Amino acid sequence: MNLDIARKKMVESQIIGRGIEDSRVIEAMLRVPRHLFVQEAMSAQAYSDSALPIGEKQTISQPYMVAYMAEKLELRSSDRVLEIGTGSGYHAAILAGLAQRVYTIERIPVLAVKARKLFDTLGLTNIAMKIDDGTVGWSQEAPFDAILVTAGAPRIPDGLLKQLAVGGRLVIPVGDEKEQVLIRVRKDEDGGFSEESLLDCRFVKLIGKEGWKGYE
Ligand code: SAH
Repeated sequence: MNLDIARKKMVESQIIGRGIEDSRVIEAMLRVPRHLFVQEAMSAQAYSDSALPIGEKQTISQPYMVAYMAEKLELRSSDRVLEIGTGSGYHAAILAGLAQRVYTIERIPVLAVKARKLFDTLGLTNIAMKIDDGTVGWSQEAPFDAILVTAGAPRIPDGLLKQLAVGGRLVIPVGDEKEQVLIRVRKDEDGGFSEESLLDCRFVKLIGKEGWKGYE
């Protein structure tokens, strides 16, 4: 099937069909060519309803999960958003169409380099990227209106909470190494935090100082 048609079908059945309503998220999912973010041999599967391997034992998330997390971040076009776990760069490319500027951190250099090339190819000039341990955030650029973690954490990293702006949202999978719950934390006007559990999920491990240790 033609990949543009496959993408349209993916959005209709997996995204709109499962209840994603934010029109900006839907538009971004229609626009960003997911097949460029998967390994070339897998481009025919790029619009299937699943996560896919991207090398280095990492995965690009299932399209629905990408859209769901993006919707839950409640992004406005003036927002600055931090993503931990660039991976293929697909999620960052989606966020780039929803926010003013995206800051994304990846710990594995080969993945980061590939993602950077794709951002350049697609002309996504509002994405800043660095190779580092993202569990401690990006203090020089803080505070952020939204923070997205795309790897499973054993607990919510304190440093990320500190880098949220008032009214800011953090979306993060938290749990053990096999299963997690997607959690949204909001920083309230009084400086406190409110937390809600959204859905069960499975992500690769968030590895680092405030994540899983001993895998470095
Ligand atoms: N958002 C990605 C999903 C990538 S999977 C996409 O759209 O493709 C999660 C990624 O998190 C992996 O690439 C992994 O290397 C990275 N990761 C894990 N721990 C990290 C850390 N502490 N800092 C930055 N990246 C991390």
